Amino acid sequence: MPSKPTVDVNRLPFRHADTWPWRWLYRLYTSSTTLHRLVSRTKWYRGDDGGTPQADGKTACGLSGQFVMPGILSRMGARRCPACCDAVGVPHGRGAPYNSGVREPGCQGPKEKT
Ligand SMILES: [Zn+2]
Repeated sequence: MPSKPTVDVNRLPFRHADTWPWRWLYRLYTSSTTLHRLVSRTKWYRGDDGGTPQADGKTACGLSGQFVMPGILSRMGARRCPACCDAVGVPHGRGAPYNSGVREPGCQGPKEKT
């Protein structure tokens, strides 16, 4: 059972279906691909490789810095940060919730475009 969210899920960024790729990112310049839930984003840009979307922001577990949008393999299989999961009320596990069939409270799922 996921815990009750400790953040106001109705104020999280990227709640709409079209912005789902920005919800769970991993930290830049680390060997970890643990996915964290962004709760704010101050800017975004393309990485040095010319294409990978990156963002400066803060996560639900309290990290701040530069984050990278995961590729498909990480998006499907990387570990979700347990503290971020607890903060937004999703179960611990692997893969971005949107890609793993997990409903993220306050966020639109893939078939909820309006
Ligand atoms: Zn986290």
